[in-house]
Order: sequence, then structure tokens, then C-alpha cells
Amino acid sequence: MNSTANIPDYSLAAERVPVYEPQTLPPARIKALKAEIAAGLKARGAVLIAHYYVDGDVQDLAEESGGCVADSLEMARFGRDHQAQTLVVAGVRFMGETAKILSPHKLVVMPTLEAECSLDLGCVPDEFRAFCEANPDRTVVVYANTSAHVKALSDWVVTSSVALPIVESLDAKGEKILWAPDKHLGRYIQHKTGADMLLWSGACVVHEEFKAQALYDLKGVYPDAGVLVHPESPAAVIDIADVVGSTSQILEAAQTLPNELFIVATDRGLFHKLRQRNPKKRFIEAPTAGDGATCRSCAHCPWMAMNELSCLAELLRDEDKFSANEIAVDPAIGERAMVPLNRMLSFSA
Ligand code: SF4
Repeated sequence: MNSTANIPDYSLAAERVPVYEPQTLPPARIKALKAEIAAGLKARGAVLIAHYYVDGDVQDLAEESGGCVADSLEMARFGRDHQAQTLVVAGVRFMGETAKILSPHKLVVMPTLEAECSLDLGCVPDEFRAFCEANPDRTVVVYANTSAHVKALSDWVVTSSVALPIVESLDAKGEKILWAPDKHLGRYIQHKTGADMLLWSGACVVHEEFKAQALYDLKGVYPDAGVLVHPESPAAVIDIADVVGSTSQILEAAQTLPNELFIVATDRGLFHKLRQRNPKKRFIEAPTAGDGATCRSCAHCPWMAMNELSCLAELLRDEDKFSANEIAVDPAIGERAMVPLNRMLSFSA
């Protein structure tokens, strides 16, 4: 069974997605802000944990200052295991919440609390609870891109790098699955595993905009290019891929495949690391719907884009903002959500 029948479409309408234009700064200003942020992190005994989709200068700073740049699975693990008692998470809200759930005694702050995720916003806890209660015979597997409340309702949390083997192992035990929130990733996993999955109907506003026909046409122009696709993309786009994988799996494929040119269907932020690690290879963005696409900026998440150097500097400079941007998770919810999160971390250890 693979069905979203009778489930409302929880994809976000374009009006709910912010328009966000990142600042362009001169090199001297970037250098000054990075120095200020590095000093601020040191003064607070904090470590910076950044996602691959945020601004390239923020990614560089995270690595230069002893923090990390990673996918959401490794961000969670890094924050939990690092000795710092203050975690500055540059990403979107569910990533800050996950860090807090796994490290409830640490202080977790984010450059902005406005950085949301369309998958999280499209999976409202009360509606999701009703969905679970209507299907009590199913094992509840939720993607990491969900609120602490939704995680607390689940049996397993997964990221795109471990979703496939975890569902495979549940299917092998004969378990039927209730999956949320990303319908494209859910369909891809159902297709690969043959598992019995009932799907929530959410989508990522960035990956949903990749277009199969335009990708075919581009591949015709560059027949030697390898096509790397994130599984939050629509099925017709996934069908064209040479490799389907999470951000870390896309990075690995770019390094190991012999192609000198790649067309990549994921957020533009990942191109910073792709180019850093493969200076002799070329990377082209997979085509999106262009003007009028839901993601507005096209192939770049407007919420991830909010994590700018200036915002980070202000967070560390301004005591009021630092206090206001602390991530709080209800301890009872956090304790319940920690169970499925730890299952994932143990599975992938
Ligand atoms: S890129 Fe998509 S999945 Fe990632 S944070 Fe943005 S909206 Fe969410």
C-alpha cells in the first residue's frame, strides 16, 4: 500500500513562503563580521553548528571556529557530543529544537527564530495526532523536518540519509508504516522498499519546484553530466537521477563518480561545499519552475537564507536578542521526542 488518499494536501501555498533577499556584502565587511562572530563564540564558550544549505561564509566560519557544517543527522550528533555548553545552530527551527531535545541541559540559540521549514509548518501536531490515532496499527516514522511535538508522537525519527535502511528494517519485521511529512521522500522510499506506507501529504517548497522535462532538456545539452537528486524532489525528477541521496550522499557521489560535470537537484547552498571539495569539477543547478515558483528564490530555501553573517553577529553582540533567541522545548515533550531520535542515532551509529 502506498497511499495519500483521503489525506488533505499539506503543501504550503506560495503566500505562506517568505520572500527573502540575502545581503551582498563587500569582502572587508565579511572579514570583519567573521572576526567579530568568532570572538563572540569564544567569549560565550559556544560552538557554531551549520547546515549545508546556509550561506557559504557562515559554513566556512563554522569550520574555522571549531564547529561543523553537516546534514541534520550529523548536526544533531555533533551538538550532543561536543563539550560546549552553548550551541549556536545556523539552520531552521526544527534543527535547533532537535539540538535542544538531545542536549536538554545545554543552551541552544539560533540567529533567527523566523527560519521555518515548509515540511514542519505543513505537519500541525493536532492534525497529525488525529492521523496517528486513526491508524493505530502502524509504526509512526517521521522525518527530522518536524516540530518537537510531532517527533514526540512518533516511534522513529529519520533523516534522508538513514530513512531507507530504517524503513527496510521495519518492513523486514512486517511492520506497516505511517510516514510524515514529505510525500515525495515517502513515495521514493516506498518504491525502493515495497513497504506498506501510508503517507502524509507535505512537501519541501524548494525541492518540489524541480522540473523533470526541463531537466531532461538540460541533460540533452550536457549528456556527460551526472545527475544528482535529493529524494524530496518529485518522482519524475528522481527517475532521471544517476544518484538519489541526502546532502551528504550527494557530496560523496560528486567526489567518487568520474564525471567532471554534474546537474544537481537540491538547495543552492550545497554548491558551496560541492565546489570546495571538487575544485576541478563543475556543478549546474537543476531547473526549477522559475519566476512564480513556490520557493520564490528558486532552488534556495528562503528560511535557510535568513542565517546571514550580520544576523549571527547581532545575536552574539546583543544580550536581548541572545536571550530572546534561545530555543525552548517543553521538558515532557522533549523527553518523549528523545526516544525516537535516539533510536535513529543508535541505528546509524
Ligand atoms: S530546503 Fe525544504 S526541507 Fe529544507 S528547510 Fe527549506 S523548506 Fe525545509
